[in-house]
Amino acid sequence: MDKKDYMQRAIDLARTKMLEGRGHWPYGCLIVRDGEIVGEGCNDMGFSLDPTGHGEIVAIRDACRRLGTMDLTGCELYTSCEPCSLCSSAIWLTNIAKVYYGASLKDCRGHGSDFDPLRHDVGKPIHERSIPAERVLGEEGSALLAEWAALIQKTPAMQEERSRHAPIGERSRSE
Ligand SMILES: [Zn+2]
Repeated sequence: MDKKDYMQRAIDLARTKMLEGRGHWPYGCLIVRDGEIVGEGCNDMGFSLDPTGHGEIVAIRDACRRLGTMDLTGCELYTSCEPCSLCSSAIWLTNIAKVYYGASLKDCRGHGSDFDPLRHDVGKPIHERSIPAERVLGEEGSALLAEWAALIQKTPAMQEERSRHAPIGERSRSE
């Protein structure tokens, strides 16, 4: 299969689910590693009543479960529509190597879904965003993290688990 075949499959998946009429929106996605499909999904927001059920998120969850890892290094993602900020975050956190997209977010805007305000808003520091944020029990929250770090230090099983998941969002450290 080449990249057009993978994209066609993502589009076909979205169309099939859309036509079932059970609350799936027309956004399909595949995760491919070394030519093998390791995850796929379709926007299921209206079906699962999960506002994070975007096609890319559903496919990433599927790939992580199937591969037994949260690190999708070496995987490529095919999505029938350009990823929004929510999905771009998940793509970033899982180290996906490349994104192929069909429709653009501009096309999406033409059909009533505008993700530009979200992209602009979440790129700002927390106190400059449109949703007010207030720090409460900050020291206690920080202390919990320190407690966790100390616990990991003396618990080999937790150290192993931590190092297994360490590559998450590796870009933040490599760039
Ligand atoms: Zn999305």
